[in-house]
Amino acid sequence: LGFNKSLYPTNDPGSIWWVVDKHRPLPPGYEPSDLTIPNIPVRPTKTSLVERRVSQKIIPDLEAMVAAAAHDGARLQLASGYRSYALQVSMYKQNIKRFGQTEADNVSAKPGTSEHQTGFALDIGAMSRECEVQACFAGTPEGKWLAEHAYEYGFIIRYPEGKRAATGYDFEPWHLRYVGRDLAAELHLTGQTPEEFFGL
Ligand SMILES: [Zn+2]
Repeated sequence: LGFNKSLYPTNDPGSIWWVVDKHRPLPPGYEPSDLTIPNIPVRPTKTSLVERRVSQKIIPDLEAMVAAAAHDGARLQLASGYRSYALQVSMYKQNIKRFGQTEADNVSAKPGTSEHQTGFALDIGAMSRECEVQACFAGTPEGKWLAEHAYEYGFIIRYPEGKRAATGYDFEPWHLRYVGRDLAAELHLTGQTPEEFFGL
């Protein structure tokens, strides 16, 4: 029996298989109706730009993953969960100012195309804050634990190394996307991005 690729829609807001990227924007003004603060450590911050909420749909597996990681000595904390359209506007503008348009587009989403707006994506880091939101996070104990185990809890490393042609983004070992345990396991096994797997 093969994997049923049409179990959930990939183009419906709220579907855990919903694929959002540069070519597949969110509906204007989209906001999940079930945003909730998970019971996991959160990065301390002085700015109001960090959102702690995520969709309720991902919370049981998120909390289980962070607890399992801690049990293995990998101390994870949430850096950023849901982002509203308005918040993405201000972050994108900051990135253009810092990096210029081309690089801003490689490292951040145009407003209305950010997976963070779905409530199913999060940036996660080490409590040590080593290599926070940097590619070298992949080499930390926490980054290694996520690469090895996140799929067991339904999460994928959404922007893997060397997949910019498929995803539109550079390697982001800290950016996780919830797709449920079955699809996450399948993507882990095949080494494919959602775009590749679904032939989008
Ligand atoms: Zn992210």
